[in-house]
Amino acid sequence: MKLQKATQIWYNGQIIPWDHANIHVMSHILHYGSGVFEGIRCYEVNDKSIIFRLDDHIQRLYNSASLYNMKIPFNKSDLIQGAIDIVLKNNFRQCYIRPIAFYGYDTLGVNPKKCPINVAIGVFDWGEYLGKGALTNGVKVTISKWKKFHYSSMPSTAKGCGQYMNSMLAVQDAKLKGFDEAILLNQEGYISEGSGQNIFYIKDEKLFTNDENSSILLGITRDCIIKLAKEFGYSITIKNISTNDLVTADEVFFTGTASEVTPVCKIDDNIIGTGKPGGITLFLQEQYFKTINNQNKKFNNWLTHI
Ligand code: PMP
Repeated sequence: MKLQKATQIWYNGQIIPWDHANIHVMSHILHYGSGVFEGIRCYEVNDKSIIFRLDDHIQRLYNSASLYNMKIPFNKSDLIQGAIDIVLKNNFRQCYIRPIAFYGYDTLGVNPKKCPINVAIGVFDWGEYLGKGALTNGVKVTISKWKKFHYSSMPSTAKGCGQYMNSMLAVQDAKLKGFDEAILLNQEGYISEGSGQNIFYIKDEKLFTNDENSSILLGITRDCIIKLAKEFGYSITIKNISTNDLVTADEVFFTGTASEVTPVCKIDDNIIGTGKPGGITLFLQEQYFKTINNQNKKFNNWLTHI
């Protein structure tokens, strides 16, 4: 889906017209991907708006920056307020929120030295990330020929801009082959994650997922699903996942802010379970949306009402 222009954007502490938020082509970020970012969703609930896990996303932005020795020149509370303000300023009921902190224009040496650190928060409309109907019908994915970079090469727990060149190659290749998304193996040959999603599988009504030892981003949606699954009495095991674990699973699903909880029905030539979204996946998806819709008191601290 083409990026829909909003009218205003939060840029370095000010709200300015969308078209004015430009950078010079010789900025450090453009050449080396030297930035960190977040992806957050704001949902319309009963004619009002709720930003989901806003504090946790902003906290992860600071953690990502810290892993890259980048000092964001704003307080967390400034960015939390900035995200709220920019949603309201654009009159969005429901949208995707994209904060980014990046090195700007000063030097082109790889060491960013005195490059200014700029921060922007953009908002725009974003529907089902993996395509219309993905949440209800599921998706078909391929195990990529591109492996996930190892956490000893780049901090996979950071959401660093340049890291996404790895994801981009994998998803381009998957699309070229007619799949909806890619799953990347890690350097040890175990499952890492999707190009922008974590992965879970279910076998005999038990849930399994991996962690940072498999070179993944520790997704906030992943955390929601772990907590919701426990709440409803499911056992969840964190382990290294093999391709065989996935293709012989009863159910497989992706989690991510953009992808939400998306069933995976086919992996290359392998049909997962019945080939239709699994019952436990759909139950957890329902609980995820109920939580967002303020129908789970236990987790209402995940909601920022604006
Ligand atoms: N892994 C990668 C590589 C991602 O880009 C994302 C999306 N942020 C995720 C996992 C899921 O993370 P979250 O649930 O926090 O959106």
